[in-house]
Amino acid sequence: MLSNRALASVTFYPYWLDTAGAPKPEAPLIGKTETDLLIVGGGFTGLWAAIIAKEANPERDVLLIEAETIASGASGRPGAIVSTSVMHGLHNAIRIFPRDLAQLEVLGQNNIAGFLRTIAQHQIDCDAEWNGELTVAVGRENLPTLREEYELHRTHGHEVQLLDAQATRAEVNSPLFEGALWARKNSGTLHPAKLAWGLKRAALSLGVRIHEHSPLKRLEDEGNAVTVTSRDGEIRARQVLLATNAFAAGHDRIKKRVAMVRDRILMTEPLTPEQMDRIGWRNRQGIYDTRTQLNYMRLTRDNRILFGGRLGYFYGSPRDPELDRTPAPYGRLADAFFRTFPQLDDIRFTHAWSGPIALTTRMAVHFQTYHGGKMIYAGGYSGFGVSASRFGAEIGLAKLAGSERPELNLEFARTMPNVIPPEPFRYLGACLTMHALDTADSKGGWRKLWLKIVGSLGFPLS
Ligand SMILES: Cc1cc2nc3c(=O)[nH]c(=O)nc-3n(C[C@H](O)[C@H](O)[C@H](O)COP(=O)(O)OP(=O)(O)OC[C@H]3O[C@@H](n4cnc5c(N)ncnc54)[C@H](O)[C@@H]3O)c2cc1C
Repeated sequence: MLSNRALASVTFYPYWLDTAGAPKPEAPLIGKTETDLLIVGGGFTGLWAAIIAKEANPERDVLLIEAETIASGASGRPGAIVSTSVMHGLHNAIRIFPRDLAQLEVLGQNNIAGFLRTIAQHQIDCDAEWNGELTVAVGRENLPTLREEYELHRTHGHEVQLLDAQATRAEVNSPLFEGALWARKNSGTLHPAKLAWGLKRAALSLGVRIHEHSPLKRLEDEGNAVTVTSRDGEIRARQVLLATNAFAAGHDRIKKRVAMVRDRILMTEPLTPEQMDRIGWRNRQGIYDTRTQLNYMRLTRDNRILFGGRLGYFYGSPRDPELDRTPAPYGRLADAFFRTFPQLDDIRFTHAWSGPIALTTRMAVHFQTYHGGKMIYAGGYSGFGVSASRFGAEIGLAKLAGSERPELNLEFARTMPNVIPPEPFRYLGACLTMHALDTADSKGGWRKLWLKIVGSLGFPLS
């Protein structure tokens, strides 16, 4: 009832893209052209790749084509809680590449330093707030996990603080929060569309050619070049970087290892000062909780609450599923919001949307090389790519160039995530998994067992 009322006048469109200041789209590519480097996809990965490539060699011609408009994919739709890790957090990095942890930590630090440098250099105002992130325990049974995370972060030199229930609620007042881990450095929140628009401006100023509404339709290897046909044009490219993430466009085989799942988000109206007093949150951290079907939340500059985390899967991976433009999929997310902040029972949601997550068993970026090394796919961030996409772009370019940088010898750059079963098994498995994720914490039983089976494929769900 409460949720229905709060959702009554919601707009089914990403709040971030519904912000003043969107640049005019660049004209579609019409006719034939040639380029040294073609980048396909105008999200964070594509934009970072364009900037890094041009900065490294201003003489090189760089062309970026985007199917719709800049940041219309995942990059205009995330929670945009930003972290240093390039491997979806310390825990995941240890799970997948325990031997390379020290190097991956350094690469993460270097990546965020590069990220901050570019934002400063090009004066990109993206509402960034570096207040750290809180991992909150929902339910006392999750406290041991939190302590383990704390020890892990301390061992690896992170600046973290463990908070008990009282200290956690003094930070953010939710009856659900039983404790928290506060990682204080180099993490925070930002406005992702403003970041993408700023990166677009930076790329254009460096001389990158950008064409929007120019989807790649076909691609042909011609030996010493690749010819790409877009909707109205044709490009002869010496090298191609596919930054198509969950859309997996550019080669049929990409999808073998990348599944598009949707994640949903609600945005509230701006809180009044009195409503803010009810929840505290003076330090404005980004927040993840520890539930199996996790929720994440953050404030915007004008004190709205973004509340996200309800996965869905659509057969055939449509670009903008109709169902997600209706209230039905958001009811349970709204219920979770009101369980988290019952004192905000007078709040309304203004925006609701979903976005494509490029899920892999690695839960972090990987690279697929095609056409004798002339083309590379860099993607698969699994919902953790706002800053890691810069790293994906940088490593993708280095691999394309045949660089001898030592990090290219690390396992993450040489190996690929596991194959995911094809349709219709993928669809059936995803539906069962979504259901199990929803109810595993409350009902247990076969759901936990199923999540273990999915875990044995390589997904860290159990
Ligand atoms: C709901 C949600 C919440 C998230 N929350 C967070 C978070 O809090 N923190 C975090 O770090 N990460 C988060 N992420 C993940 C993050 O948004 C992504 O990892 C990141 O934006 C990926 O950028 P990308 O450029 O690789 O992909 P995208 O932004 O998806 O870009 C791919 C682009 O390729 C284009 N394209 C597709 N097909 C073609 C074609 N045929 N021709 C030309 N172009 C094409 C698409 O239109 C799209 O613009 C979240 C993602 C979602 C969906």
